[in-house]
Amino acid sequence: MKVYDDQNIFAKILRGEIPCNKIYEDNFVLSFYDINPQKKIHALVIPKGKYIDLDDFSLKATSEEIVGFLRGVNKVAVKLGISNNTGKGYRALTNISIYGGQEVPHLHFHLFGGEKIGKMVE
Ligand code: AMP
Repeated sequence: MKVYDDQNIFAKILRGEIPCNKIYEDNFVLSFYDINPQKKIHALVIPKGKYIDLDDFSLKATSEEIVGFLRGVNKVAVKLGISNNTGKGYRALTNISIYGGQEVPHLHFHLFGGEKIGKMVE
């Protein structure tokens, strides 16, 4: 059973120990721009709770946290003007563990937009 690492970089951002370029925040999520953008718009959305990845979150988060997180993703997309109502769409992606290529062990959704995103998987 994996244990959440309190020293991961997103935990430090949540605690305010490291700055971020903030897009949106509420009781459930924090969203900020990726430091190494892969597309014209590259945002990250993370839950405030200590969850390693989507599997961990799905298993352990409360219903309120799950709803809050997903609503937060939508709020960020609306704010960035990339949602299906406010723009031309985007790709939401989350990496899980080793084969998923996850680098930071705190659940995060990548939101890619602002241009055509292209092939789904390399
Ligand atoms: P993943 O490979 O899915 O774990 O993605 C981690 C992402 O976090 C990468 O796209 C990094 O560029 C991004 N990242 C790492 N450190 C920071 C940071 N301090 N602020 C913003 N994004 C970061």
